[in-house]
Parts: sequence; C-alpha cells; structure tokens
Amino acid sequence: MKELKLDSLCVQAGYSPETGESRIPPICQSTTFFYGDTQEMADCFDLKSDGYFYSRLANPTVAALEGKVAALEGGVAAIGCASGMSATTLAAFTVAGAGDNVVISQACYGGTFNLFGTTLPKLGIECRFFNPDDSAEEIEKLIDDKTKFIFCETVANPSIVVLDFDKIASICKKHELLFIVDNTLATPALCQPKKFGVNIVIHSSTKYLDGHAAALGGMIVDLGNFNFKGNPRYSSMNIPDESYHGLVYADLPVAFATKCRAQMIRDIGAIMAPMNAYITYLGCDTLALRMARHSSNAKTVAAYLSKHPKIEWVKHASLPDNKYHALAEKYLPNGQGGMMSFGIKGDVKKCATFMEALKMITQETHVADVRSCVLHPASTTHRQLSKEDLVKAGVPENLVRLSVGIENPDDIIADLEQALAKI
Ligand SMILES: *Cc1c(COP(=O)(O)O)cnc(C)c1O
Repeated sequence: MKELKLDSLCVQAGYSPETGESRIPPICQSTTFFYGDTQEMADCFDLKSDGYFYSRLANPTVAALEGKVAALEGGVAAIGCASGMSATTLAAFTVAGAGDNVVISQACYGGTFNLFGTTLPKLGIECRFFNPDDSAEEIEKLIDDKTKFIFCETVANPSIVVLDFDKIASICKKHELLFIVDNTLATPALCQPKKFGVNIVIHSSTKYLDGHAAALGGMIVDLGNFNFKGNPRYSSMNIPDESYHGLVYADLPVAFATKCRAQMIRDIGAIMAPMNAYITYLGCDTLALRMARHSSNAKTVAAYLSKHPKIEWVKHASLPDNKYHALAEKYLPNGQGGMMSFGIKGDVKKCATFMEALKMITQETHVADVRSCVLHPASTTHRQLSKEDLVKAGVPENLVRLSVGIENPDDIIADLEQALAKI
C-alpha cells in the first residue's frame, strides 16, 4: 500500500481480510497455534516459513499493528513490544553488549535517561551523553570503534527539544553508525525520520499511537536502510548466530528486525499483548486527524500562555521565538504535537496550587492522549534525578508539562485561565 498517502495508511495499512473474514483484525488471544505437520512447524522455527507458532515471538493481532506502524514510518518491518521502554532496551541489546558504548542525547525521556545512565552501564554498556545543542565536532568526539548507535528523540519529552536530524545523520553516515530515533511525540503523522537519515525508529505506542491512554506498548521499526554487511562495527550481525542455526543477519534483507525478534524477543520476551495491539491498531486509524488537532490546539494554548503575566516561559516549537522553531519548520512543518512545557513564576508549591486548581485538565503520569493533562516532572517522572541531572535533562523545578488534548481549545484556555487566577 506504498502508494497511499499517510492519512489513508493510518486507516488502511496493516491488515487486509480475505473474503468473509472480519474487517478489522480479530484479537488472537492465544499463546499458541496449531500445526498438524511436524515439518511445517520446524520450518517456522527455522524462519523458513513465517507462520505463527508461539505468541512470545509473533501473533497475528500484533502483526497487524506492526504492519500498520511499519507502513506509516516507511519501514520494512516492525516489532510490537510490551512498552516503549522495552522497545528501547531490545533495540539496544540487538547491537550492543558488554564492552560496547552508545551515544545518547541527554534531552530524553526520564525512563530512557535511567536506562542508559544506570541500567545498561551495569551490564557493561557504556552510555555517553551529549547536549543536543553541541556541535557535530563535539558529538563526534564521543564515537570510537566500540560505539554502536546514536540515540535521540524527534521531540524530546519533556524538554521539547527538536532534533537536528541533519547534524546527527551526517555524523552517523560518516562513521557508518546506526541512527536510532524515538519518534513517540512527533509520530509519523508529523515527522517521518526515514526522510532524514534515521535507520531505526522507536515508539512508546502508549502515547499518541494508541492515543486514548488505554494500552501500554512499544514499537521498533526497521527502516531497512542500513548496510550491516562487512561493517566491522557490527560483528554480531556478520558472524553466524549459532543459537539460530548459523544465521548471518547481515545477509538478510531485514537484518536488524530479524535479529531483534529471533534473539532479543526470543530470549527476553517483552512482546506486546494481542489486546493492546488491537486497541493501538484502532487508535492509529485516527492518528493523522488527532495529531493535526493536538498540534493546532497546542499552538493556540502556547500563544496564550506566552502572553500570561504569571508564566515565566513557554516551550513549544510553534512559538516564533522558540529556540527550536527553525528546526521545527524544517522537520515538523505540519504541526509540532500537543506536548509543551512552561515555567510558573514561583516555586514548586505554586506549581502544585496551580495544578490542583485545574478542573477539566487532570494531573496524570501520562502524556499524548486525547484528554489534556498536566504533570510536574521534578516531583514525579524525574524525581530520581539529581538537581544537576534535572537541569541537564532540561527540566527545571518550576516546569509544568502540559499535554494538550483534542478538546475545544476555548475550554482548555478557560481552565488554565481560572487556575492561574488562583495563584
Ligand atoms: C513514555 C515514553 C517512553 C516510555 O514508554 P513506555 O510505554 O511508558 O514504556 C519512551 N520515550 C518517550 C519519548 C516517552 O514519552
């Protein structure tokens, strides 16, 4: 369905029924699948046939969503994971092991920061963080023979830094290094990283892809545009995998996703549940429509807040004076999504008073669903971070994160207005 436009793909891609079958993907709530013939089942295990045999490795409902997200990102394969965090972890394990290092933008989601800053180093994977505003030369200094990828977010959560794709892509090209991007907050409806030199896309589908705060999930999308063959950086892709009958992943048309599924998903699990895939599949139907509305609402709200006397600053790339406005015009011309952050004039207590005064907008450890919600990262998602790391991650103490929903923008502004009047 490559010829369809993105909003059509949202509705049509991923699943096409045969005569008499259900129009939307059925929920295949089964751990296992029947085979009458031993050889047929053996062929599945050998990856000679792509039949389903055990839902930890693949499941038809999850496959429908994988097909849809792969189509939206222009990828060759996708893997549905239990959560966004497991997607990032499994993608990292696919190419990196003890003794390797990875290079990460420090403007990233709190969980991602902890994964790369604490958990992966315990397993011997060194993580080298860079400031997204650093020059290409400075970032390049972090790369050596043991570097396996550079990891960034299209729109960073919650610092709302917009990724300079060209800067990172040129470094990765020069060093024949994998470029992995977490596209959660932009979604393919606003930005397709493949157009800008990215090789692997990660999603927390928990956010906009589902869009309704109903199902946890993650996605790894192999964009099929990285050549592992003969690249000494990726020896594990080029030597036979004895745990998989001597398969050499670099020889396959879909190297990364095959290794990720055959090794990482097999050994670690963390696959998406069929029910969650079903819910997320339905959510994706309206992705393009929702992202347009999230973006226009957020633009209106950002303009309103930026003029409010009780607000110190507002970060949303739609604002002409935003540091990342030019990058957003280049990479996210059709809208910048619903996530924004702002600083309240005052301390942590004032932030709390404001948030408690909100009536329609709720306090939630969530972003990117149809309902507007707020969060105070310094006391929740980022509370494990030290004061210095908070500043590093672009999350000062008075920062309020606002995820603008798809309600009527007048109602969102009216709620903010009455709550600001109380501080
Ligand atoms: C939420 C989020 C994650 C983690 O996803 P989970 O589904 O909660 O595991 C990763 N990256 C970004 C940008 C996120 O917003």
